[in-house]
Amino acid sequence: MSNLEARSDIVDCVVPPDHDPAHVQRIEPRDVALGGDDALRVRRTLPSLRRSFVGAWCFADHYGPETGRCMDVPPHPHTGLQTVSWLFEGEIEHRDSGGVHELVRPGEVNLMTSGYGIAHSEVSTPNRPVLHGVQLWVVLPEHSKDLVREFQHHVPDIYSTEGVRARVLIGHLGGVRSPVHTETPLLGAEVVLDAGVTWELAVDPGFEHGVLVDTGVVDVDGVRLDRAVMGVRDAGLDHLRLTNPTDAPARVMLLGGTPFDEGIVMWWNFIGRSHDDIVRLREEWNEAPDDRFGRVAGYRGQVQRLQAPPLPPLTLKPRFRRGRR
Ligand code: MN
Repeated sequence: MSNLEARSDIVDCVVPPDHDPAHVQRIEPRDVALGGDDALRVRRTLPSLRRSFVGAWCFADHYGPETGRCMDVPPHPHTGLQTVSWLFEGEIEHRDSGGVHELVRPGEVNLMTSGYGIAHSEVSTPNRPVLHGVQLWVVLPEHSKDLVREFQHHVPDIYSTEGVRARVLIGHLGGVRSPVHTETPLLGAEVVLDAGVTWELAVDPGFEHGVLVDTGVVDVDGVRLDRAVMGVRDAGLDHLRLTNPTDAPARVMLLGGTPFDEGIVMWWNFIGRSHDDIVRLREEWNEAPDDRFGRVAGYRGQVQRLQAPPLPPLTLKPRFRRGRR
């Protein structure tokens, strides 16, 4: 062990003030435009400055409801991650270099594994004019980061109890278990709470949890969250209390998983382990994309594929659970 590592161990012993397992950390979203002026705007809560992951969930964008705005993302690459597309309203046509052509629809989960490398395009269809959903990423652990590309589609079963309906995308909740396979233990569910309802749900005490509000207002263990805000609680407790204090229904995405303790470098659409990984991935995509990422068939947009932007003039630093350390 080097001196540097010994010193960083000492720094780690300083427990941050929010290390209490009962503490709910509020993450306010940042507004991000996906592309030019008329592009879809999203509200991003992960990664954030003080919290990079919830379990292995490492990226969370919330968008819509928007009428008359299109999503048209030309073929672009991913590595080291899985994307989870979930719509409340709308319809998106997905094509990838694994030969998958699928319509993403409300109430259906689509999990794409990039692993070593994949390319895909996402285009909203004119069939349904309103776009409203979340785009989530799951980081693959070191031993699975180079998996073969794959696509899983599933129509979740609904768990219901008084005043609560939950669609279980990933993992299990209230006796409903999703067949979607992940590389680390995860939970992903859409939960609708009727007006005035409190739901005290049993959760895995080994999981940390994030609640992302889509519609309405929800209190998580007494901490008030409104639209597009995420509340995150560390592992350690076996119940989570969700309350809808209003007289209208509320809808949230409930995320969870075992704490992800690796450091990763996220840049553009890539996840790697180091700055040099990202430099190499960017070059491969911009110069010979088909070799690593494959080819997307059938995309009919004007631009054949997105070029990776220039790298910033600095060394990209890894992110850890609680930020950059
Ligand atoms: Mn993508």
